[in-house]
Amino acid sequence: MNSQFSYFGPQFAFKCICLVLVAGRGLISLYGGIQFALHNCMHLGGLEVTFQAMQNFTFHNPVQIVFGKGSIAKLAKLVPASAKVLVVYGGGSIKANGVYPQVMAALAKHQVFEFGGVEPNPRYETCMKAVELCRKENIGFLLSVGGGSVLDGTKFIAAATGFKGSDPWDILAQGAEVTSAIPLGCVLTLPATGSEMNAGAVVSRNSTQEKLFFVSNLVYPVFSILDPETTFTLPLRQTANGIVDAFVHTLEQYLTFPADAPLQDRQAEAILNTLIEEAPKLAKDPKNYSARANIMWCATQALNGNIGLGIPQDWSTHGIGHEITAFYGLDHAQTLAIIWPGVARNRMAGKLAKLVQYGQRVWGLSGADAEVAEAAIEKTEQFFTTVGCPTRLSAYKVDAGEAAKRVSERFVARGQGGIGERGDITTEEVAKIILSRR
Ligand SMILES: [Zn+2]
Repeated sequence: MNSQFSYFGPQFAFKCICLVLVAGRGLISLYGGIQFALHNCMHLGGLEVTFQAMQNFTFHNPVQIVFGKGSIAKLAKLVPASAKVLVVYGGGSIKANGVYPQVMAALAKHQVFEFGGVEPNPRYETCMKAVELCRKENIGFLLSVGGGSVLDGTKFIAAATGFKGSDPWDILAQGAEVTSAIPLGCVLTLPATGSEMNAGAVVSRNSTQEKLFFVSNLVYPVFSILDPETTFTLPLRQTANGIVDAFVHTLEQYLTFPADAPLQDRQAEAILNTLIEEAPKLAKDPKNYSARANIMWCATQALNGNIGLGIPQDWSTHGIGHEITAFYGLDHAQTLAIIWPGVARNRMAGKLAKLVQYGQRVWGLSGADAEVAEAAIEKTEQFFTTVGCPTRLSAYKVDAGEAAKRVSERFVARGQGGIGERGDITTEEVAKIILSRR
């Protein structure tokens, strides 16, 4: 790892949403990939685009996706018959939307335990109660039933139960190695995070107001069941959050600088265009199966590793957004809707080529480069607002000055340097970005 980009060191890599690529002896995060990319480009200085070719990568994604109507019944065969199964879920919506009885019917011949109450932005404190249960009952398989938060919590429970160190929090805070994990599966009810097909998880800790990330190839789900009908009854806010999260996951990987990777570019543009086309259909008809199915698959594709292979990546919006969630409790996607336009404008010069490509191909814009770039950002803001995520801090009653101060102080306290695909978003720029979103 390149010491000049300390922000991308292992600490940071474990703190943010990212995908994993299996490389060499184990996992590297996207951040590792960025760091590698930066090493190649920064020596040439300035904003020069120095990528001449796709970066090397190794890709292996072992998750079995079981997609479509009626798929929950397949749990009967997917979950190992001999294992004690812990079904992990959130606030109980699965009992209202008909998913819970389907799961329990499918697991009628299994020995099943339950753990409910995993929060949005899953809490370490809650997960550790499940860890106790897993240890006491010798649980052999975890089944996450819910959205990305429940699944991320389940991944942490899986990794923490057999953790050999003194405190499983070290997995998140210190990047402590995960050496064993309970196998897990997933029934996804909220398309958003992509966690169903990656090896990352984000967990928050109440007592310290921290939201941290870990990644381990041991927590890839063995399978993920994606039945779009489970999303029919999602509240508008959660539907909007899912669309915005998937959209920004795509932008974090796509909207950097040209890397001579036209396939990944077009795969990313396909996801963005599909989300833009499908989202309005749900406003008219929340039970539109095709729209739900397409959005669900977009969210998975946005963060299963595929579109980010061999290219530079940004992730500064997530880095800043996580802190705003940690301090103010905003939904993850709400923070992304606020911060991404600020990052795009703040880094306009470095991102210009891709902003123009994005504006032309995704939004059908034409004109001078600077105008297309600005219009593309405005179109994105309008899209976020229209689907249900306002893009200003004031809409959530967060004081921009205070947020800028708190977030930048935390970045300084962690000794973090520059973020973004070039590592050039300093703490001062982070504060400016937040202030620009008042
Ligand atoms: Zn995200």
